[in-house]
Amino acid sequence: MKKLQLTTKIFIGLALGILLGIILQPNPDIAVKFVKPFGTLFLNLIKLVIVPLVFSSLVVGTCGMDDVRKLGRIGGKTVAYYMLTTAFAVTIGLILANLSNVGGGFSIPVDAKVEVAEAPNVIETLLNIIPSNPLKALVDGNMLQIIAFALIIGAGIIGIGEKGKVLFNFFDSMADVMYKIIAVIMEFAPIGVFALITPVVAQNGPGVLLPLLKLIVVVYAGCAIHALFTYSATVSLFAKVSPVKFFKGIAPAMVFAFTTASSSATLPISMKRSEENLGVPKSVTSFVLPLGATINMDGTAIYQGVCAFFIAQVYGINLPISAQLTIILTATLASIGTAGVPGAGMIMLGMVLQSVGLPIEGIALIAGVDRILDMMRTMINITGDAACATIIAATEGELNRSVYEKPASSAK
Ligand code: ASP
Repeated sequence: MKKLQLTTKIFIGLALGILLGIILQPNPDIAVKFVKPFGTLFLNLIKLVIVPLVFSSLVVGTCGMDDVRKLGRIGGKTVAYYMLTTAFAVTIGLILANLSNVGGGFSIPVDAKVEVAEAPNVIETLLNIIPSNPLKALVDGNMLQIIAFALIIGAGIIGIGEKGKVLFNFFDSMADVMYKIIAVIMEFAPIGVFALITPVVAQNGPGVLLPLLKLIVVVYAGCAIHALFTYSATVSLFAKVSPVKFFKGIAPAMVFAFTTASSSATLPISMKRSEENLGVPKSVTSFVLPLGATINMDGTAIYQGVCAFFIAQVYGINLPISAQLTIILTATLASIGTAGVPGAGMIMLGMVLQSVGLPIEGIALIAGVDRILDMMRTMINITGDAACATIIAATEGELNRSVYEKPASSAK
């Protein structure tokens, strides 16, 4: 009963927040001054647990792979699913952009020529995954490096056998403490969601949205198609479970991702929902989901594909198929290096544009509506992670099908 109430309360918080945002549109400052701080407070509470949670749960998750072969198998399947679905996602984005002629008829506003910092290149991104100073990675919250460090520590613990037990127990206990803290923070989620969405709606009135409406519609449509087609198909094909129940089970995390626009902040909720509503064991969620929140960004990839095409059209540059194939490759790689925080995808868009010689200043055209696009792409990003976790659990024979069929929250 309690769980059902929390989910319902989150939805109510979202609806009320949108309503208040609409009411406050003439005076968005009120929303920013008086409502936003509650959202920020809530986000800070969640952020507080992210680094210790990701690190400890990933060490524990890695140790849970009793032997190196299992680690290799699950790691391989996870990365393969993440990469393939992301490449597929950009493809959907590009096809829709081509079909809808997304940037056609759009003229560049005079003040759009803003300098945008150059994005890091692919090689640099990949090399940076291994931290030369792991403690700095933890302090800076560099998720990709934290993941690499956790995997290496986990493998080391497995490597020394019995002697590693003490360290394992330490991280196991730390992960449990984080789960407990999250459970308490989550009680405030409805208020947090409410306070986060109100200023977004109030600040992004029709004036900001209308000129770029077509771009927004195409990105949203691409995300919806990817979720309804790719995730439904892969979940029913590989995990042999109902996609409807999948979406129902992960819905609270989706709403949360939509309002926070941060995969990392949503991680604790995706983990909890995947375990309690989808029947994915902790050993799988603690490995697959922290990894996914950092390296798997299908929504971001769709957005980057559509935006690259949009910018090319606005600047009157023709994008041949070869350039579009390059975009598929770079957007897939860019999604690995994109941090799960608001706005990160827009920075990485610079890398995608650069790879095909498109003007980076084009990002300025999109910046005004980026938050609206960010909410949707983040929602898709975390849904892809949960789909992968469900599939991995099922193919390893570890999916608790009775929980999936009758999750605690809908059973009541
Ligand atoms: N906000 C997204 C996320 O956290 C990343 C992005 O900006 O595309 O998943």
